[in-house]
Order: sequence, then structure tokens, then C-alpha cells
Amino acid sequence: MKYDFPTPEGTMFPSMTVVSIINVCDFACTHCFYPQYVKQRGYSRHNMETAVFRKIADEMGQYPGSILRFIAWGEPLLHPKMIEFTQYANQVAPCSPISLITNGYWLKPDISKALMMVGLDLIEVSIDAATPETYSRIRVSKYLDAFSRVEQNVKEMVCQRNELGLKTRITVSFIVRPTKESVDEYAIFEQRWGGVADEIIKRKLHTFKGTVPAIAFLPSPRQPCYGLWTRCNINPWGQMSVCYNDWENKNVLGDLIDPGVTIAGVWQGTALARLRANQQKKIFTGICKTCKDYNADAWNHPYEQVVDRCRNKGL
Ligand code: SF4
Repeated sequence: MKYDFPTPEGTMFPSMTVVSIINVCDFACTHCFYPQYVKQRGYSRHNMETAVFRKIADEMGQYPGSILRFIAWGEPLLHPKMIEFTQYANQVAPCSPISLITNGYWLKPDISKALMMVGLDLIEVSIDAATPETYSRIRVSKYLDAFSRVEQNVKEMVCQRNELGLKTRITVSFIVRPTKESVDEYAIFEQRWGGVADEIIKRKLHTFKGTVPAIAFLPSPRQPCYGLWTRCNINPWGQMSVCYNDWENKNVLGDLIDPGVTIAGVWQGTALARLRANQQKKIFTGICKTCKDYNADAWNHPYEQVVDRCRNKGL
């Protein structure tokens, strides 16, 4: 296999721009680094500022096709401007599919309707369970009604979408753990959501740099990381980092607050070029050196395929 940019356009601009607009979450899922992140010295809550988001969206408008993905260090629906940001991105970057990953708790009908109306193309609601018992054990929160409410929110969103004839594709996801119990529960999850959600996304467990205990299958010999050729990761302050796993901001490549810094400039810059060239030679340095989260599957089954399938279903 050739480990390189999937498309010529990808050399100029990432095929997916992953934007973390907030570093606050109201869940403490056992498979996420977030519960440890908020205990780190120096942690402070931060919502991405409008000017920073607009700069990102404006630049995406110059590179049609790059997927805008709201995800990462917090729950995007807790950002007070999530709907405004979606609307703005849809206006200035109309050829960029907009996707959101959420815990779904705040996806009440008025919010989901507003998001669909302003141009959200794809939503992924993380559920990870087929029973309330599993849900409350894995997706820890203070909300006693979380499982039923999230399921209800998704079903109501599907109904609204269908009634209004909107284009948003609605998916649910499940992280399959390396246990028989989890594999069996995924089968039930598939039955539960088949024919309801537009797609069921099956995920592997991330270890978040090995800090979340997990028995993860990692290929040997190790492959280069797909993310270096396809993803840019922007934190709530507007800094571009090598990886979403850079929770300590130790691998920042550029700060978009600086007027002279652009996503394309960092993407085409020497720091990433060096990392890519090294990984093609099987040399893993920096944050990647001890990483346990490189996704070998991504070269053959990238998330972009989910977006494409959804697009074919009506985006
Ligand atoms: S190898 Fe690991 S740390 Fe490096 S970019 Fe990929 S996922 Fe991130």
C-alpha cells in the first residue's frame, strides 16, 4: 500500500478539518481521556471565539470538499454558538460537508431542528450501548435519564428530518470493546438501530496515548498514521496540532489567531512534511513515538467513506 495523500487536493488542504470548539463535557465516559484531561494542572474551560471559528470556515470556503467535523475535547452542543457556527460555515463553505459528533443529550427537538435547518449535513450520536445498564456504566454522567433521552432525541430528530424533508443524515455509533460481551451487545445495538438511523458506525476503542486502559489490536509492523495525510486538528484556542491526542498542547504547529497563519500554510509546512516523510520510512517521533491509537483500518475504511455514503443517500 502507498501511504500518501488520498487526492491531489489533499496536498493543499486537509480532507477533514477537525475543530474542537469547546473543552467542556458533561459526560465522563470510561473510554475517553476527558475525565483525566480536566484534572490536569492548568486546565481551564474555553469556548472557541467567533473570530477564530470564522477564520477557519472562511479558509475552508477556499478549498471545496474538505469536511468540517465538530468533535474532540468536549461536547460541541454545550458551545452557545454551535448553531451560529454551523450556519456560518454553511454560508461561507457551502461545498464542505458539515458533521457533528455529540453525546446527544442536548439534542432536543428545537436544537436538532435548528441544526438541520442551518445546514448540518451529518450527525453522529455516540451511544455505545444497547441497554441502560451498559450505558450508565460506560457513558458516565449525572443524568439518570441519559440513555432513554438520547435514544428519544435521535428518534425525534429522524422524524423531524423526514417530515421536513431535510438533507441531514443521522447516524449512531458504538465503540466495540475487545470482549465477547461488547461484541454481543453490538449485535443487539445493530438490531435496535437498523432501519432507524441512516448508518450505524462501529468504532474501535481508543487508548488516548495509552492512558485509557484497553487491549487494542495494533498491527505490527506499524503503519504510517492516516491522520497525518488527511486530518488537521484545531483546539478551542485556534491552535493547530499534530494530533487530536495532543491534549497538553505540546505539539502545536501554528496558531490561527496570528493573522499570518493559515490552515493551508501549516498543512503544507515543513513540520508536517518531516513527520510524514519519517513515518513513510517507519520512523515515529514526537507524540507519535509511543502512540497506541494509530488506526490501521483508516487507510482502507476512512471516515470520509461514511460521509460519502451519506452524501449518496441524500446530502
Ligand atoms: S500516530 Fe498517533 S499521535 Fe501520531 S498523529 Fe497518529 S494518532 Fe496522533
